[in-house]
Amino acid sequence: MAAMTMIVSPFSRLDDDSVLLADGAMGTNLLAAGLPAGVAPERWLTERPEAIAALHHAFVAAGSDVVLTCSFGANAPRLALWGAAMRTRELNRLAADLARRAVERASRPVLVAGSVGPTWRDAVSGYASAEDEAVGVFAEQIAGLKAGGIDFVWLETMVSAAEARAAARAAISVGLPYVATASFGAGGTTPAGLSAPQFAAVFEGLEVAPLAIGTNCCEGPDTTLACAAAMERLPGVRLAVKPNCGLPRSVGEDAVHPEGPGSMARFAKAAIERGATILGGCCGAEPAHVAAMRQVIDRHGRRS
Ligand SMILES: [Zn+2]
Repeated sequence: MAAMTMIVSPFSRLDDDSVLLADGAMGTNLLAAGLPAGVAPERWLTERPEAIAALHHAFVAAGSDVVLTCSFGANAPRLALWGAAMRTRELNRLAADLARRAVERASRPVLVAGSVGPTWRDAVSGYASAEDEAVGVFAEQIAGLKAGGIDFVWLETMVSAAEARAAARAAISVGLPYVATASFGAGGTTPAGLSAPQFAAVFEGLEVAPLAIGTNCCEGPDTTLACAAAMERLPGVRLAVKPNCGLPRSVGEDAVHPEGPGSMARFAKAAIERGATILGGCCGAEPAHVAAMRQVIDRHGRRS
């Protein structure tokens, strides 16, 4: 294994001995605020920025130590789906700036993580033939996020080894630390067939180790935690777990996520016991879910 450089951790600006709490969902909360189904959340960066800012504020008020930008689908291939590929840098800078302004008004330090999702261009076969091209795609997005003032990059819902590695290399090339999480289905693999141990191995040998690796979304708190616990980590690399609130069920016109704040609080306690030191929620997680996890961390979340 190549020698690794550890970039100075942004977490040193927080209470570094405590388990850290990220935020909840962006997409499902914007749907609840009126974003039409099938419309990219990034459209609201210019059309309804106050709705995104209000969500950031709500998560800060609920006790988040880290908020993620509204930029999950802000890579050029995804933005091209609604004719916005040329605006990649502008939209990412805007997303970062909105989150940055929200945390600056907090009474305690809160970090901004730049959300980077997959391109989905080739989710099944991976991106093996085009990893270098993917580095360029992600670097363009991350440069925009950096211009808007993020503290680190959060690669989430990663699907293939090649894209995950490309996105990590992009963060390193732009000079930012990164967290990397993937989402695993019922069989314990991503749609591209990547398992949790294989995902953890993606970051071995890179020039800069991740701040944390782990899981997000998946199929609810239990599977998300089980997959994360199956990841072998290098020394100093934290474990991050950000589950969805179960798979949504249709109730009338709405998609309802079954797990409430109480169940996310139970998840938080179990995750801390399994060694996770960054928690949060994905789809379905509202500020109330985050507040419930905050209470658990305040009681049980000391690392030493
Ligand atoms: Zn999710």
